[in-house]
Amino acid sequence: MARPSIIWFRRDLRLNDLPTLLSATEAADDVLALFVLDDALLRPSGARRRDFLMGCLQALDRDLGGRLLVVQGDPMVLVPQVAAEFDAAAVHISSDHGPYGTRRDRAVAEALGDVPLVATGSPYAVTPGRVTKPDGTAYKVFSAFRRAWNDHGWHTPAATGPDTADWVDPSGCSTRVPIPEAGDEPTPPPGEAAALERWREFLDDGLERYATDRDRPAYDGTSGLSPYLKFGCIHPRTLLHDMRNRSDEGAVTFRSELAWRDFYADVLFQRPETARTNYNSDFDAITYDSGPDADALFAAWCEGRTGFPIVDAGMRQLLAEGVMHNRVRMIVASFLTKDLHLPWWRGARHFMKHLVDGDLASNQHNWQWTAGSGTDAAPYFRVFNPTRQGEKFDPTGEYVRRWVPELRSIDGARVHSLPDGPPDGYPEPVVDHAHERRVALDRYERIRSPR
Ligand code: FAD
Repeated sequence: MARPSIIWFRRDLRLNDLPTLLSATEAADDVLALFVLDDALLRPSGARRRDFLMGCLQALDRDLGGRLLVVQGDPMVLVPQVAAEFDAAAVHISSDHGPYGTRRDRAVAEALGDVPLVATGSPYAVTPGRVTKPDGTAYKVFSAFRRAWNDHGWHTPAATGPDTADWVDPSGCSTRVPIPEAGDEPTPPPGEAAALERWREFLDDGLERYATDRDRPAYDGTSGLSPYLKFGCIHPRTLLHDMRNRSDEGAVTFRSELAWRDFYADVLFQRPETARTNYNSDFDAITYDSGPDADALFAAWCEGRTGFPIVDAGMRQLLAEGVMHNRVRMIVASFLTKDLHLPWWRGARHFMKHLVDGDLASNQHNWQWTAGSGTDAAPYFRVFNPTRQGEKFDPTGEYVRRWVPELRSIDGARVHSLPDGPPDGYPEPVVDHAHERRVALDRYERIRSPR
C-alpha cells in the first residue's frame, strides 16, 4: 500500500482551491490532515483572533468528517514525530514567506530528514518574490508593483474539495489534542463555508458600490473578508477568478486592494527586518516621545479616551469587536504617530493583539505607510486632521455615535467638532491638533535637513 501524505495546514484552512491538496494526492489518495497549535504564533494573538482561528479549525474538522489531527507544541518536534508515526511519504504545505514562517519551515524541513517538505502555492495571488523589476530587484512603489502584478497574472483555482483525498483517521495518534473551544462566539462566523457565503453576498450586492462606499465607516461597504484571507479560508485567486469578467469601478478598486495585500507580503519577504524597523532608515533619526506623559497618552489612545470622536470610536470598536474600518485605521494611526508623536510600532503591536485580521505584513507596512517611514509612503507632511476626516467620511456622525455612547445626544456632523464642548463624561481633547501638526512637521524637517 502506498504511504500516505500529510498536509500540514497553516494559513490555508480550506479544502476548495487548495493546490497543496493536488500535490499531496499525486502519489497516493491517502492524506492525513494536520494542524499544529504553535505557541510562537498563538502567544501574540489576542482572544478574538485566537477564537476565530479555533472556530476555523472546528469548521475544517467538520468538513473533513472529524479527521483533522491537531497537536500542540513545537512544529520542529511534532511534524517529524507525526510523519514517523504515520509512515508518511511527504509533508505538503503551502509556503509561508513571513520571517517566522520561513525560519520554522527551514528547521522543520531539516528535522524531517528523508521525508520531503513539499511547498505548493502560497496565501497570495502571486507568491512573494515572483513579481520583480526587469532587472530582478524588488518593487518599492506600489503602482509599479500593481502593473507588473496584473501582467504576471495568477493561476485558475485548483479543482479540489473534501472528496479529493481519502482522509486518514487520526484517532489513534499519541499526541492528538482536542481543538480548543473558542472563548466567545467568534466573529465573523469562522470557516470556509462562511467565507464563501460572505464573498458571494458581496460579489452580488456590494462590489458594484465598493468604489464609493468603501471609505464610509458607518456603512457595510467593504467585503469583510480580511480575517478569512488571513487564515486562508478563501484564497485571493478564487476572488480574482470570480471577478475575471468585471471591469466596473468597484471590481477594479477591489482588485487593487488585493494587490496591496500581495505587495506588502512581498515587501516583508524582501526585507523581513521591516517587521520591526523602519523601511526607510532616514526615519531612524526621528524623535518620538517617551516617559510617563507619553505612556498616559498611549493609554488614552488604546482605550478610546482622546477627546477626538472619530479616533475614540475606532479604538473602541477595535477593543469591542477586533475590527476597525480601513479609513479609521489610517486616522488613528496618523493620530498616534503625528499628534501624539509615538512610534508606529507601539500602535502596530496594539493592533496585532486585538485585530481578528491581524497580519504582520499588512499591519506593519500599513502602519509604516501612515507614519511616513514605509514604501512609497504617505508623505510625512500629510497629517490627517481627525475632525475634518470625521466630517468627511462620517458626515452624518452615525459611526461615532454607534461607538461613543457619551456623544449619542449630539446630532449630525457636529459630533466631530463638538462646538459646545464635550458633554458630561466625555474627555477634553488630549492635545491641540494644530500645535501637534507643527511639531510633527518640524521633526520631519529636522530629519530631511539635519542641523
Ligand atoms: P476590503 O476593503 O473589502 O478589501 C479587500 C481585501 O483587500 C482585504 O480583506 C485585504 O485583504 C486587502 N486590503 C484592503 N486594503 C488593504 C491595505 N491597505 N493593505 C493590505 N491589504 C489590503 N489588513 C489586514 O488584513 N491585516 C492587518 O493587520 C491590517 N492592519 C492595518 C493597519 C493599518 C494602520 C491600516 C491603515 C490598514 C491595515 N490593514 C490590515 C489593511 C485594511 O485596513 C484591511 O485589510 C481592511 O480594512 C479589511 O477589511 P475588508 O476585508 O472589508 O477590506
